[in-house]
Amino acid sequence: MDHDVLVIGGSFAGLSAAMQLARARKPVLVLDTGMPRNRFAVASHGFPGQDGRSPADIRVRLRAELSAYPSVRFQDGAALSASREDTGFRVSLNNGNDVTARRIILAYGVRDSLPDLPGLAERWGASVLHCPYCHGYELNRQPVGVLARDEMAQHQAMLLPDWGPTTLFTGAAFRPTAEQEQSLKKRGVEIEDTPVAELIGSGPALEAVRLEDGRTVPLAGLFLAPQTAPSSDIAAQLGCEMRDGPTGPYIAVDQMQTTTVAGVFAAGDLASPMANATIAAASGVMAGVAAHRSLIFDPDLTQQHERASS
Ligand SMILES: Cc1cc2nc3c(=O)[nH]c(=O)nc-3n(C[C@H](O)[C@H](O)[C@H](O)COP(=O)(O)OP(=O)(O)OC[C@H]3O[C@@H](n4cnc5c(N)ncnc54)[C@H](O)[C@@H]3O)c2cc1C
Repeated sequence: MDHDVLVIGGSFAGLSAAMQLARARKPVLVLDTGMPRNRFAVASHGFPGQDGRSPADIRVRLRAELSAYPSVRFQDGAALSASREDTGFRVSLNNGNDVTARRIILAYGVRDSLPDLPGLAERWGASVLHCPYCHGYELNRQPVGVLARDEMAQHQAMLLPDWGPTTLFTGAAFRPTAEQEQSLKKRGVEIEDTPVAELIGSGPALEAVRLEDGRTVPLAGLFLAPQTAPSSDIAAQLGCEMRDGPTGPYIAVDQMQTTTVAGVFAAGDLASPMANATIAAASGVMAGVAAHRSLIFDPDLTQQHERASS
């Protein structure tokens, strides 16, 4: 086998996993296409010690720290397919080469799909957002909106008044029940049923949304829940069990980030219903530790994995 561990995806989760293996002096290859999910945002918030830095800067720093460990190698490129081979795995890359490794850590993240509204995509990560904890503070208590896609909108609209006066745009996507409407009222949320036609303002800033009847509603930020899908189908190729999450499918893992396939671990957004850089990094740490232990306690991959619990 070429490596003890292959980490597919070199961002928050993958680099954190590789760090644990590097510190155990294990040969590890980190394969990455350099497109972390938060690359649309100018700054990343809430990651301990890195609050307000650009996502690209954080990645450079994490990679620089890892580069100090001689057993770690980086390769730019995509993993296209993977299969079990003997007591490890064979992975084909987009440069036509194959690599083999005794264990695999899947950390290739998810892709977002956004509603098709004029003015929306170009503001993603700046004034069109999904996570108030990540970017709500910077809106400085100005008016914000929630663009409903489904029932998740109720949850977002209940949270958002802590960041600014909130309007819930239900459109045709979601209608709160009488009880939900009461809860929204208590939080001071306005409900607007006329569908949003476009986002306006000198982008990437947002000044208002124009409704289908021509009225405009001033807003500094518009929140929504994007639909998500894994960035690759490698987990499916390997036979990993999936779960349905609030925005899309994610890989089922247990508390050690072990998937349902022996020797395959998964971490970060693609293995969690909750997306956050710090949570991704923490799960990466666990996956790195679990892969290391698997090399020691189950070298020939003979143990059956227990059913993943989340
Ligand atoms: C607009 C936006 C802003 C955000 N802001 C914040 C914030 O301020 N704070 C916060 O805590 N969270 C934020 N998040 C969430 C955060 O981006 C994610 O939780 C975090 O990036 C997940 O880390 P990850 O390592 O799981 O995946 P990613 O960071 O998405 O990294 C996955 C990596 O895998 C690579 N890859 C994909 N496919 C392959 C393949 N086949 N082969 C090799 N490599 C591959 C990608 O190029 C990428 O580098 C934001 C999300 C979005 C969408």
